[in-house]
Amino acid sequence: MDFQENTMQSELRDLTRKFAQKEILPLVEQDEHDERFRPEIIRKLGELGLTGIPVPEEYGGAGLGYQEYIATIEELAAVSVSYAISVAVTGLPQVILNLFGNEAQKKKYIPKLAQGEAIGAFGLSEASSGSDAGSMRTTARREGDSYILNGTKLWITQGDIAETLIVMARTGGPGPKGVSAFIVEKGMPGFSCGKREKKMGCSISHTMELIFQNVRVPAANLIGSEGDGFKVAMTALDSGRVTIGASALGVARGALEVAIRHAREREQFGKPIAEFQGVSFMLADMAVALDAARLLVQRAAWLKDNGLPFSTQAAMAKLFATDMAMKVTTDAVQVLGGSGYTQDFPAERYMREAKVLQIVEGTNQIQRLILGRSLTS
Ligand SMILES: Cc1cc2nc3c(=O)[nH]c(=O)nc-3n(C[C@H](O)[C@H](O)[C@H](O)COP(=O)(O)OP(=O)(O)OC[C@H]3O[C@@H](n4cnc5c(N)ncnc54)[C@H](O)[C@@H]3O)c2cc1C
Repeated sequence: MDFQENTMQSELRDLTRKFAQKEILPLVEQDEHDERFRPEIIRKLGELGLTGIPVPEEYGGAGLGYQEYIATIEELAAVSVSYAISVAVTGLPQVILNLFGNEAQKKKYIPKLAQGEAIGAFGLSEASSGSDAGSMRTTARREGDSYILNGTKLWITQGDIAETLIVMARTGGPGPKGVSAFIVEKGMPGFSCGKREKKMGCSISHTMELIFQNVRVPAANLIGSEGDGFKVAMTALDSGRVTIGASALGVARGALEVAIRHAREREQFGKPIAEFQGVSFMLADMAVALDAARLLVQRAAWLKDNGLPFSTQAAMAKLFATDMAMKVTTDAVQVLGGSGYTQDFPAERYMREAKVLQIVEGTNQIQRLILGRSLTS
């Protein structure tokens, strides 16, 4: 593993940073307030080749790895976690189809997602099955050349905007083994969206209830075989956790930069507050924690890129990086004092955005569960 970024990683980082500063930053506070998602941002990111980084070129991707992908996700999250998550979630159907899809499915669905012409979503959670995803109730009943989907999904990121959704539903008996994965297209009769969640942060991002009422999905849209769905979902989440870790790096770095700037500029007792050890030690601890998290996220990406087992390391990276982001963003608010608690500065937004990263793609308690099991089994 190289501790220095390669040319491609640096170029992607610079490209994303410039785009985010120019196209997202000027709008982000107002759009968070208005809960307004701009699909054109994803289209433009696609034109720059940033929505399908780890996907093979033959399916319209950049043919690069997660080490490049995390640089882009971090830069987006440093400006807006909503758009970082949007790109990461659009990546999930690509990862799934690339690993488990047949040739026809790959050719039909991946290129548009990889090029930002379509938005993706991942439908696993339900009202009664979050952490215990294997107990889901949505069903898929075989009928001739189709499956008939019935049920309701909850908290699905951009489920209303997405053109291509991967939806997990029960085709067999109880528990994870009875779950299958399907490609669902926007506009399929019987598929609609219910309420949009009002959230404490990441309000640009739509978080949706999905309703399936006798939705006829072609049998050709089954991914793998019946009963593969839970494995498909968990494999996707392993990769997803690396991007959530990268989002945590971005939001924490954004907060640290705001805190450093403020510490240099704000004067109390006749000097910049950065000169008080109580403040500069806080900044030092934030920087160390951020770098430690970066190493864990980079290691998970490196293992994945090199075809080595990475589930445990992805869980470690997600857990540590998102807990770090929560602490660093909270400390950034503290460094800004009263200003930190106001919406005149982005520190409080970063703090609200960091919180969701401890919850999505498996809560941090679930990461500890995975790690505890891997240590003791
Ligand atoms: C903004 C947002 C976007 C989301 N996007 C998506 C999406 O795109 N697709 C999707 O499928 N889902 C999505 N989710 C859902 C998310 O994955 C779930 O919220 C998460 O998995 C937790 O499930 P839950 O909310 O039901 O909490 P619960 O499972 O009810 O957990 C409640 C609390 O109990 C703890 N807990 C539960 N079980 C255990 C255990 N065995 N040991 C210790 N502690 C435990 C949890 O850690 C948590 O603290 C999203 C959620 C949010 C908030």
